[in-house]
Amino acid sequence: MSEVCPMCCGQTVEKKVTRVISGGGHTATLEVQAEVCLECGEKLYPANMVRRFQEIKAKLERQELGDFIFTSQSKDFLMLV
Ligand SMILES: [Zn+2]
Repeated sequence: MSEVCPMCCGQTVEKKVTRVISGGGHTATLEVQAEVCLECGEKLYPANMVRRFQEIKAKLERQELGDFIFTSQSKDFLMLV
């Protein structure tokens, strides 16, 4: 997957990035693969991953935390993807 940055038309590379999602007083931290622009640092996520982020946010807001693993050091929820 090779893409061009929509912000600056720069080259992107696939990288593992940390995405933080908050909702309902909780925070979920996800490690995901994204395309990152070499020029401006813009992160591009595949459409299915963006949908997943929205689902996770909705779950946090509904206090549905069954899928999340609590990590005590950070007081965040780490989700396995
Ligand atoms: Zn860019």
